[in-house]
Amino acid sequence: MTLNRADYNAQPDLNNAIMKALMWKAVYCLISVVLLSCTALDKVKPETRIKNIIMIIGDGMGPQQVGLLLSYARQAPHSVIANRITALDRMMEQGRLGISMTYAADTLVTDSAASATQLATGKFVGAEMLGLDKDGNPQENIIEKAKRMGKATGLVSDTRITHATPAAFAAHQTHRSQENSIPEDLLATGADVMLSGGLSYWLPKSANDKNSSIHQQLLQMTGNSVEIKSSRKDDKNLLTIAQQKGYTLTFNKAQLQQATGKTLGLFADSGMANGIVETQNRDNILHTQPTLKEMSEQALEILGRNKQGFFLMIEAGQIDWAAHRNDTGLLLHEMLRFNDTLNGVLDWAENRQDTLIIVTADHETGGLGFSYSGENIPEPRSLPGAAFTDGALFQPNFNFGNPVVLDKIYAQQLSYHDIFSQFDKLPKDQQTPIKLTELVNRYTEFKINEAQALKILTTEANPLYRAGHISLGEKTVPKIDVNGAFFVYQKENRENLLAQAVASNQQVVWATGTHTSTPVFVFVKGEEQVMRPFAKILHHTRLGQLAIDALQK
Ligand code: MG
Ligand code: ZN
Repeated sequence: MTLNRADYNAQPDLNNAIMKALMWKAVYCLISVVLLSCTALDKVKPETRIKNIIMIIGDGMGPQQVGLLLSYARQAPHSVIANRITALDRMMEQGRLGISMTYAADTLVTDSAASATQLATGKFVGAEMLGLDKDGNPQENIIEKAKRMGKATGLVSDTRITHATPAAFAAHQTHRSQENSIPEDLLATGADVMLSGGLSYWLPKSANDKNSSIHQQLLQMTGNSVEIKSSRKDDKNLLTIAQQKGYTLTFNKAQLQQATGKTLGLFADSGMANGIVETQNRDNILHTQPTLKEMSEQALEILGRNKQGFFLMIEAGQIDWAAHRNDTGLLLHEMLRFNDTLNGVLDWAENRQDTLIIVTADHETGGLGFSYSGENIPEPRSLPGAAFTDGALFQPNFNFGNPVVLDKIYAQQLSYHDIFSQFDKLPKDQQTPIKLTELVNRYTEFKINEAQALKILTTEANPLYRAGHISLGEKTVPKIDVNGAFFVYQKENRENLLAQAVASNQQVVWATGTHTSTPVFVFVKGEEQVMRPFAKILHHTRLGQLAIDALQK
């Protein structure tokens, strides 16, 4: 067949048409491929999927406690913080900041149990309740939800595992004091990793008899790492039940570092070592108790193996204990322990897009602040600036505080609690103001005198004073009412009074021996979309709900 002209002319048209059709098809295919892959990406979202949530609670870590850490980092002449950059500075390089109100149901102020319950469940609850709503109905907590989703879960605290904060994430009890029942709740909820102190609530009462076979058996089991004494009212051995449920038991740092699966670590009979002791023993191989950072890192190592991800709560719980006692030096070391721990968590999460880190407090404790005073006002001095060349002197009316105070606060060698423990171990006739003066002046940089020591010992709560064993020459000193309504822990009144004695030299004021309603910070780091709702003025029920909602499969 020969093509005539028309045919010949027609052929390119046909070719054109085919080409056009092919082109459109190609474009269509291309668009489809892009659309399809976008849809697929939407479903998988590999970069934005939040697998893991790490919630870090500084108990009692209000804005002023954070402020103490930041002042120390930036202003202490000999700050131990590398490059003066805190873990919170690292958080905020890519993180976001919110603030949150902490009050419990129908109250102005909260305690730790209610606050942690509100974080764990997203629901309001009354003061001192655990894992219930405000009417007393048990509520699902974030650990229980995470488990339902197939995630691994963990609780880490430097207090004890049955104490209010960790307990609120796993137990359901009418009052936080029910520490005999809480271990059973913890085992029923079954977080994969539980690391803290509080062994005494897991041991049968009969273990208190040092000659009993159970006492010997427990000594062997714990490798002598923890004192064997029971706080239980019954003879249940909850360690055995934990083992039956598949937990590996660990009682010291070496055992913890071997742990790979479900792990229950109980490293002290009650609360773990305080922040000053931890600072002093960080490199001491004889100190077998893990640090909060070490516990957190091992928890991350274990939980990170779960392909579905995990939820981990880490509590720096002794910030609160230091603040109740108005012990500024101890508080700084607790904040440094928190800082170390958060640095460890940030290192673990470095370059991970699948992890949300939330750092907050359950409330503020102590009503703390650096404050300017009318005492020790600095001498006037000349300044080189142009405004001062006519002989005018730089002369503020008040003492605004010298940053050198921060180094002196750091230099405290013993907590106030441990100072008074040493004092109480002295023979009764040596428990005198002079002895207390010696102890305080040996272990802290803020010296007191005998008259101040007498005032500290002259509290309603001091039985020795009531018995008349303390005297200063011939003077009769009236009993001191420390306390007013806001110093409710009588045993700690001496510590609160010591804080008042050194207040003007420390440049530190403490308003209370309990908690305040001060809103707390919420630091978040993670994927932008997930972080954004946290950067608001929240309430802890809302914050808890946001964390629960952020759990993804
Ligand atoms: Mg706590
Ligand atoms: Zn407290």
